[in-house]
Amino acid sequence: LVSRKWRVRPTVLDLGDGVCIGEGSLTLAAGPCSIESEAQMELIMQHLVENDVRIMRGGVFKPRSSPYSFRGLGMDGLKLFHQMARAHGIKIVTEVMQVSQVEEMHDYVDVFQVGARNTQNFNLLDALGGVDKPVMIKRGISGTLEELLSSAEYVFSGGNEKLILCERGIRTFETASRNTLDLNAVPILKEKTHLPVIVDPSHGIGIREYVPTMALAGLMAGADGIIYEAHEKPEEAASDGAQTLNFQESARLIRNLRKVYQLR
Ligand code: PEP
Ligand code: MN
Repeated sequence: LVSRKWRVRPTVLDLGDGVCIGEGSLTLAAGPCSIESEAQMELIMQHLVENDVRIMRGGVFKPRSSPYSFRGLGMDGLKLFHQMARAHGIKIVTEVMQVSQVEEMHDYVDVFQVGARNTQNFNLLDALGGVDKPVMIKRGISGTLEELLSSAEYVFSGGNEKLILCERGIRTFETASRNTLDLNAVPILKEKTHLPVIVDPSHGIGIREYVPTMALAGLMAGADGIIYEAHEKPEEAASDGAQTLNFQESARLIRNLRKVYQLR
């Protein structure tokens, strides 16, 4: 069902208020790895509004490698995130980690994010097949493109056709970067499926200085949009600071992404 053989026309998702994801528009989503505080959200939303970015990313349930790391603000954080986002005309993309969270999060998110560690959590995918909100599925840490498409098929066949695929880098033998952003995935997925394809250069390379370059490369490869981490003080971020842009870097990247999109 997610194949171009089944549907030739590219899928375009309408999040409302003039925010669309898919062919014909450049999707930009930015924000912290983790939602940390009300003050932080206010600053980031101001930054997004100033730069006409309509989607904010930010986790409230965080899948951390160590149980001692910051694990997010949970539902209270999400409710506040939602309330503030509405006030700023911003849409929310945030990670859902388990089936039981789908229902409680439902009214407070615009796009459910399935993280790389959950790409093959088939029960979660089944549950998301039953909701009427868009789902962005990240590629598994060591996942093939075929596996990513199969995960999308779970959600789609469950009745939810509002899907976005996200290339976020895979684990390879290379240790110079956190992950290896697989730009090959972009033209291959764009040809195989009618779904929108978004690139996450932050997790893809994991090194702040190189994030803008890889974001631009992702767009040139044919992605429908870029999702990246931005924070008012990346050095102090509760998670993923080393791959997070400050506002100056973020504003510059947004300008350059728009220029490159025009050239395509
Ligand atoms: C994130 O978006 O912060 C995240 C945890 O991503 P991934 O699942 O790609 O590691
Ligand atoms: Mn992160």
